[in-house]
Amino acid sequence: MSKYIFNAEAKDASEYTKKSNKEFADEFGIDLDNAFNEELELARKNCIKRLEDHKIYDESGELVWNSEPYAFFKARAAADTVHPSLWLNGKANLEAGVFEVVKGKIYQVRGLDIANITFVRTKTGWIVLDVTSSVESAKTGVKLLEEALGENVRDNIRAVIISHSHGDHFGGIKGVVDEKNVGRAEDGKIPIYVPAGFDEETVKENVYAGTAMFHRAKYQFGRDLIPGVKGSVSTGLGLAMSGGTLSYIRPTDFITEDTTITIDGLEVEFQLTPETEAPAEMNNFFPEYRAFWAAENCTGTLHNLYPIRGAKIRDSANWWRFTEIALEKYGRKADVVFQSHNWPHENTPEHPHAVETYLRNTAAVYKYVHDQTLLLANMGRTPRDIARAISLPDKLKKVWYTRPYYGSIEMNSRAVYNRYLGFYNGNPTELDPLTETDEAKQFVEYVGSAERVLELAAEDFEKGNYQRAAKAATYVVYADPDNKNARFLAADAFEQLAYSSESSIWRNAYLSGAKDLREGTPQNVKKRETTGKNDLIANMTNRMVLDYIGIVTDGERLADEDIKFRLLVVKPSENGKETYLGKPADVTEEFLVHIYHGTVLYYEGKTDEALPFVKAPDRAFLSIVGKQYKRSKGIFDTNIPEALEKLDNAVVDLAAYGNFPLIEPLR
Ligand SMILES: [Zn+2]
Repeated sequence: MSKYIFNAEAKDASEYTKKSNKEFADEFGIDLDNAFNEELELARKNCIKRLEDHKIYDESGELVWNSEPYAFFKARAAADTVHPSLWLNGKANLEAGVFEVVKGKIYQVRGLDIANITFVRTKTGWIVLDVTSSVESAKTGVKLLEEALGENVRDNIRAVIISHSHGDHFGGIKGVVDEKNVGRAEDGKIPIYVPAGFDEETVKENVYAGTAMFHRAKYQFGRDLIPGVKGSVSTGLGLAMSGGTLSYIRPTDFITEDTTITIDGLEVEFQLTPETEAPAEMNNFFPEYRAFWAAENCTGTLHNLYPIRGAKIRDSANWWRFTEIALEKYGRKADVVFQSHNWPHENTPEHPHAVETYLRNTAAVYKYVHDQTLLLANMGRTPRDIARAISLPDKLKKVWYTRPYYGSIEMNSRAVYNRYLGFYNGNPTELDPLTETDEAKQFVEYVGSAERVLELAAEDFEKGNYQRAAKAATYVVYADPDNKNARFLAADAFEQLAYSSESSIWRNAYLSGAKDLREGTPQNVKKRETTGKNDLIANMTNRMVLDYIGIVTDGERLADEDIKFRLLVVKPSENGKETYLGKPADVTEEFLVHIYHGTVLYYEGKTDEALPFVKAPDRAFLSIVGKQYKRSKGIFDTNIPEALEKLDNAVVDLAAYGNFPLIEPLR
């Protein structure tokens, strides 16, 4: 019998965990009593204004950023409850302030958000590269640069370049520019440059699967965790997420091919890198400053081909290929490479080829995982097996800036497999797998009883077999979520796995799981409403709105329906040929919409068929998506109101589903 004691307390690192962390430290030459590496030195380099225990408040006085709880990183000795390598990464991410990337020309403000805000000097002002996640962080970034340089930055922003379609790069836009000043450069306004496809991808990633992704992201980023040596330590990309306001402004200039644009007297080269870290992404090169902006393609960490919040699998082949192109085109012309997360790498007398090496090593790790995964798949190995088998060659492995602080080799290899061969491993048992709950119940039944499973799992726990213990105890939780002992044991196993995870997102996921197991999945948490989601929704096209209405419709409630109508998107106009609510209007878009047995089919364009009509202004169907139909009925001019009512009745209010459990069955 095991002497394991079941309780809800957070535990210390076990002897096995300490041993595993110590072995890593020994292999990588980390002195645990005075942990230090060259990345930490780079993170501190060229600081012209240092911030410590920094706080940012929003307009209502709510704290949206606070680095003070991370002060534990100031300790010289690494905590034994944090993987030594992740300890170093978190310590480096505590370094905050204004940093000079190229003397007098390029500055970064780091440590105000998960992402950096970067300023590049033009002839008369500044280009801003990426604007962090929140209005408050971005505003603070501008202010801090002004203080550091003693000059007015805010009124001299000449352009904004947003590298890609992720919220932590565009969310702060309204903290940098006023929407009314945004426009084409030739009209004397401030242009926003983005890669082709940017607007569509922001919606697809943030709206279509947004509710699920936003919620799952709480495990990835440890949103419910308290910072501390037994809690969240960093995200691998930056200290933490900002709690501020996400915003969006429709960009003005879409980059559709590699090109050079002169912005306020400064030449800027654009390198598109589609389907890499984001579906729409681009790098920039500033020839005059010999500086290469690697967007989020090279970030000082191994990144995710599949982030665990859920996302489309990213293309590792594009990722390494575009990085190799960047190396060839800009590697020898650049003295420094800098990006939207973590810190720059520059050529020095000791490392004269640091930039080239940085790009090459980054390309190489993605290529290695890509190629070896496919090789092993072709040799008959399964995805789980491959994930455990792949290990980087020593020369690639011992590079700090591609260590798995954010992504992991295991997840990335599974992502490569999935991208080429899909999620099915070839074994027919997986053709129609049991639900998680049925599988769990069956496991417990076959073993004999929940007590017996926990007895065996506790023995595994005592031997340091934490993955096995977690898996078995979680089966009991899924079979019976009220089994407290199962919850405690699974939580303890997760916790030890967290303490020895080099990937921050694995650590966050394990610790978030442990918290929910011990305390129960939080119910009815007030969802933080951000204007950002509203800004994104307001940016949807009518086609996207029709796509989205299909996604939020309960098919069963429309199972018997077969209703066709013409949807005329109208805009009031004195000379309009159409009428809308008795007044003249122009038709700006037309769709054939077919509510057909649980689906919302549509055809974008005119139809010859004589059909009932629905006339409504731009994106009017958003009111149905938002369950506001009854209140906004008056905006629909139609001869089939019953169709809209049926649709309204079938729409699921997703706002009520933001708190589903991730570590126990949905009740
Ligand atoms: Zn990012």
